[in-house]
Amino acid sequence: QLHHQIVIVGGGAAGITVAAQLLEKTKNLDIAIIEPSENHYYQPGWTLVGGGVFKLGQTLRNEKDLIPKGVIWLKDRVQHLDPDNNSLLTEAETEISYDYLIVCPGIQIDWGRIEGLKDALGKGGVTSNYAKDYAPYTWETIQNFKGGTAIFTYPATPIKCGGAPQKIMYMADDAFKRKSGVGVNTKVMFCTAGSSLFGVPEYANSLEKVVARRGIDVRLKHNLKAIRPDTQEAIFAVTQPDGSVEDVSIHYDMIHVAPPMSAPDFIKHSPLAVPNNPGGWVDVDRDTLQHNRYPNVFSLGDASSLPTSKTAAAVRKQAPALVDNLLAHMQGRAGTATYNGYTCCPLITGYNSTIMAEFSYDNKLDPSFPLDPTKERYSMWLAKTIALPWLYWNRMLRGKPFEADALKPLNKLLSRDRE
Ligand code: FAD
Repeated sequence: QLHHQIVIVGGGAAGITVAAQLLEKTKNLDIAIIEPSENHYYQPGWTLVGGGVFKLGQTLRNEKDLIPKGVIWLKDRVQHLDPDNNSLLTEAETEISYDYLIVCPGIQIDWGRIEGLKDALGKGGVTSNYAKDYAPYTWETIQNFKGGTAIFTYPATPIKCGGAPQKIMYMADDAFKRKSGVGVNTKVMFCTAGSSLFGVPEYANSLEKVVARRGIDVRLKHNLKAIRPDTQEAIFAVTQPDGSVEDVSIHYDMIHVAPPMSAPDFIKHSPLAVPNNPGGWVDVDRDTLQHNRYPNVFSLGDASSLPTSKTAAAVRKQAPALVDNLLAHMQGRAGTATYNGYTCCPLITGYNSTIMAEFSYDNKLDPSFPLDPTKERYSMWLAKTIALPWLYWNRMLRGKPFEADALKPLNKLLSRDRE
């Protein structure tokens, strides 16, 4: 049996950021990260891989180079949590006990909840940027598209980066229109289980103009339930105005699927999950990120119950609040730091244009730049494709603040945008 003062479950965006920030604030902490993978991916870059802007390799680093010095990496997978005894069990059957636990294993993609999807993926025009293996296939499919119907879906569950299913659609639509003979013979459809284009009305308004300009056919309350690759049919459960649900089949020539997602099963089946909630998220206070029933447990990132859009940008603002509150708790004080729900979804609306959709709890706009955030901008495309990846690797994962730095290289472009 092993024991560490602080155990972090998951060495993704959240786990690495929190570990680095803890050590920035307090040296000599005994921290272990449990993370099975040797690869760490910058997932926000997968949209750009699907759009042919990045190669997959540009989104990859070795996990060992990112684990902060002084932190112990346990290359293993957590299988069972036992918070009543401050311990957990890994796949290698190691029992690990802790004084404090930080839970951030990300989100689980429930591919199996769409009938036929698993077997259909990666061929016949069926793709998804939500898996690294298929993001390059998205680009291949877009390039080889000869016209017909291109469908982009959005599921009925919370997902990571709620804008990603649309970003790839706008890039695809651009690519189709550029290719002679393809654009005019193509129908692009956005089929979402939701009842609007985006959760925040101000950004939804901007996106409505984008779909109207592009002539995209938006179908609301269309929840993808099956893929039939033999006949190239997508079957949707469609909620009718009277509340009844009917199956509707739509033919596709290509389909980009955003599948249903939930908390990883080992969280769902543990006492840490929100009781009686199908998502199974780690049950934390939305302001302090401390567990609602186990005070020595904290959580952030995609696996947490924080009621905001699940992004790496959100993690960036969650981490400092968690770190302050955890250190206060360790010293027997009540923490004072709070997280305001900040999140950011750079909504790519085409090659060279992006709406930097930043908002916090209760859909409050929360822009970092002194500009109207609801507008499509070239400067924000540069932020998405150049500044944000650099800042992720070099600032965020190193536990350094980055607001001031983020603005510097963009200042010139911003002043042009203001004119
Ligand atoms: P992750 O970064 O996914 O890390 C979870 C880690 O936990 C992984 O390393 C995993 O191996 C590990 N793990 C899993 N199970 C276990 C276990 N049982 N035991 C131990 N470790 C485990 N965010 C943005 O900010 N902007 C964007 O534009 C954006 N676009 C996106 C586009 C796509 C296509 C995708 C897929 C994501 C996008 N995101 C974006 C979302 C962003 O990547 C996530 O919100 C972010 O990575 C969440 O961090 P996390 O640490 O909670 O989860």
